[in-house]
Amino acid sequence: MFNKRIKIKELLSSDKVNYEATVMGWVRTFRNNQFIALNDGSTNSNIQVVAELGKFDDAVLKRLTTGACIKATGEVIASLGKGQKVELKATSIEILGDSDAEKFPLQPKKHSLEFLREIAHLRFRTNTFGAVFRVRHTLAFAIHKFFNDRGFVYLHTPIITASDAEGAGEMFRVTTLPIDGTAPKNDDGSINFKEDFFGKSTNLTVSGQLEGELAAMAFSEIYTFGPTFRAENSNTTRHLAEFWMIEPEVAFNDLEDNMNLAEDFIKYIIGYAMENNREDLEFLAQRLEEEEKSKPQAERSEMGLIDKLKFVVENNFERLTYTEAIEILKESNHNKKKKFQYLIDGWGIDLQSEHERYLVEKHFKKPVILTNYPKDIKAFYMRQNDDGKTVAAMDILAPGIGEIVGGSQREERLDKLTQRMNEMHIPTEEMSFYLDTRRFGSCPHAGFGLGFERLVQFVTGMGNIRDVIPFPRYPKSAEF
Ligand code: ATP
Ligand code: MN
Repeated sequence: MFNKRIKIKELLSSDKVNYEATVMGWVRTFRNNQFIALNDGSTNSNIQVVAELGKFDDAVLKRLTTGACIKATGEVIASLGKGQKVELKATSIEILGDSDAEKFPLQPKKHSLEFLREIAHLRFRTNTFGAVFRVRHTLAFAIHKFFNDRGFVYLHTPIITASDAEGAGEMFRVTTLPIDGTAPKNDDGSINFKEDFFGKSTNLTVSGQLEGELAAMAFSEIYTFGPTFRAENSNTTRHLAEFWMIEPEVAFNDLEDNMNLAEDFIKYIIGYAMENNREDLEFLAQRLEEEEKSKPQAERSEMGLIDKLKFVVENNFERLTYTEAIEILKESNHNKKKKFQYLIDGWGIDLQSEHERYLVEKHFKKPVILTNYPKDIKAFYMRQNDDGKTVAAMDILAPGIGEIVGGSQREERLDKLTQRMNEMHIPTEEMSFYLDTRRFGSCPHAGFGLGFERLVQFVTGMGNIRDVIPFPRYPKSAEF
């Protein structure tokens, strides 16, 4: 029954006519008791299926409601209507699944993104989310292609982890112990995790980097692409509790190689989406333009979505040190007029997203790579610079999004690494496996983490990160 189905995308992409075809999909609209706009998710465009007047029973026509699933067979003919080359003149229409028009929550009218988030199980069937999730797919595919073409090994790092070196306080606990107070206790009253499933305290991972480094010390170049979890209470348009991260780790790369890799990588995947998902991106560009019309002039972006993507692909990212960035921010009129919520008064502070956005959107007007941050605001594994104050870190900041990549050259010197871990009270015994890479055949290496949803946001122009992952998890919400 299903073998003869033609995808709507395929049908619409050719102007071949006068042949029989079967399409299946969901009814978007049914006009004049005659014209069905049918969509099967292969493209944002609908095929027009014509149910000629008098040819079909009223009983069938009544069931052609928005949301219903149908199979239609007929002749592909040249379309007289605007906007499509061909349409299907139906000879048979079979209802595969009814959809009660009174009860179906999605109506052909425009719904707000907030409302659609509440019916995320159905929002795939809208133009906007159809486009977003096809682009998301293309980006994921491009990521694997980029690394595969360059000989990287795709490494699956664990999702359950016992190391909390990176995300202390921000992690979700994984346990099978009872939570009603009857969990086994130690003499001092603390929970006895020896009795827990893994015999120790475990969490959901915040990053696959540490394990990635272990494999890079054998394969030279690896990448991870998997889910990560943060129990931070960040109710922002850029934070999720569950998100996907891509983390390449490369032996024999220094900070500059790392920046080059990250910049090439971002440009490649954006370029790939522009080539392979043009129609969806054009739709999303249009959507963004409409959305921006309701904003005050000052908040509108200067470039349309497609121009912005093109600009990123064609121009070098601005590279500067944290120290240079602080100078720019300190001397900026914005700072002098006290327009920042957090004023920049000196070296050493962590940049807030308002500062990042100022640099990217106001000052340089392009993606920025900031390097060599103060060691006190960065993780223990970043390579210490000779100045004794900074580490070989790099963050990539993107317009509208802020931090999209965080990375560094790693500290490969055992003595420096253990010294830093001691300073930061990170238990070296538990991390002995990690330190082994520095004990046996250590080498300079570098890597970074790119938040996949932030990238999807950037490419699709969606303002809220909750709208670029199918079923978002965030504080007080784990629906579906
Ligand atoms: P931010 O300061 O924006 O919270 P971070 O410094 O916590 O980011 P990293 O720990 O460096 O981020 O994580 C690597 C990348 O993962 C970030 O550059 C970002 O793209 C992404 N990321 C981090 N936290 C989240 C989150 N809660 N939801 C979605 N993506 C995230
Ligand atoms: Mn964070």
